[in-house]
Amino acid sequence: MGPGPSNVHPRVLKALSQPLIGHLDPLFLELMEEIQGLLRYAFRTANRLTIPISATGSAGMEACLVNLLEPGDVVVIGANGAFGNRMLEIARRCRAHPIAVEAPWGNIVEPSAILAAVAAQPRVKAVCLVHAETSTGAWQPTEEVGAALAPTDTLFIVDAVTSLAGVPLEVDAWSIDACYSGTQKCLSCPPGLSPLTFSDKAVAALRARREPVQSWYLDLTMIEKYWGNERAYHHTAPISMNYALAEALRLVREEGLEARWRRHMRHHEALHAGLTAIGLHLAAQEGHRLPMLNSVSIPAGIDDVDVRNALLQEYDLEIGGGLGPLKGKVWRIGLMGESSTPANVLLVLTALERALRERGLAVDPGAAVSAAAAALDNQ
Ligand SMILES: *Cc1c(COP(=O)(O)O)cnc(C)c1O
Repeated sequence: MGPGPSNVHPRVLKALSQPLIGHLDPLFLELMEEIQGLLRYAFRTANRLTIPISATGSAGMEACLVNLLEPGDVVVIGANGAFGNRMLEIARRCRAHPIAVEAPWGNIVEPSAILAAVAAQPRVKAVCLVHAETSTGAWQPTEEVGAALAPTDTLFIVDAVTSLAGVPLEVDAWSIDACYSGTQKCLSCPPGLSPLTFSDKAVAALRARREPVQSWYLDLTMIEKYWGNERAYHHTAPISMNYALAEALRLVREEGLEARWRRHMRHHEALHAGLTAIGLHLAAQEGHRLPMLNSVSIPAGIDDVDVRNALLQEYDLEIGGGLGPLKGKVWRIGLMGESSTPANVLLVLTALERALRERGLAVDPGAAVSAAAAALDNQ
């Protein structure tokens, strides 16, 4: 129940153990088509260029930025946590000119502040936002920014590593031009691939580059030839990971995206009710809290690592610690994909309640679980 990787369904583990075939085997080519179709379903897009990048979520981030940015390009980036900061760092390494629109960790970046930063520049190549800031639990509004940028030349790049298949994400309806995710968060597949989708506007920007993409491995002009009709060898596709992703996406499809979004919200609400009953508070900005990543303020006098160790040793249960300015100040409880279950909500509340009582906090025995159970009953 940390910030990822989440638990993996047995069907996905079984898919990983299937015999290998070649990366140009007709059966594998069929599987690639199936994966692309399922990714379009999950991203809610008709984009032709919709593929998994052969590496973890950070490679999806890097692929978007190295393919779309060129030296000197101005790029506006929402910076309110670790992943916005990572985008800034990659943009700098592309020798682009990033402009950070900052907000305190835990808060969203106001869409009006983003649009004001864009309006202040003569030409902005792209705007980047992190839809689900996993380092803080903030749920970034994105729709309004996409609508404002749609009629302009500016590209809209969205990090959906944690949001894909966990909360509503509408690549086409929100005019997102480049979007990437990861397999290990709400898709509940092991870490190793990064689903990515490019709109026609993004593909046109890619084709219009003045210079070749500075990364050979992540160069989409070559990778799209393997995933497109040419099937030209670029690098050997990670066969087993693609089996696993296909199976994880089939599970998403069987459950249905809307049902999956509702499940994540239901279990977040139950967890929140339980935490509140024992005096714990969610740390992210009210009204903008992610259901799949719950950052919880650590009560005064309680040691972060001591409690997390107790949970791991006594309950075999992992939760995350804080990053950056939130280190030692919050716990991060993941309810992602397969991990988002009523049993896990009740387990983490039981464990936390007992750990806090043992460390001298005045907590009503059973209060957290009763409140969470009542919330589950009412839903
Ligand atoms: C996890 C995560 C990443 C990075 O993914 P890796 O799989 O760790 O490379 C990027 N952005 C966000 C929002 C994430 O949660």
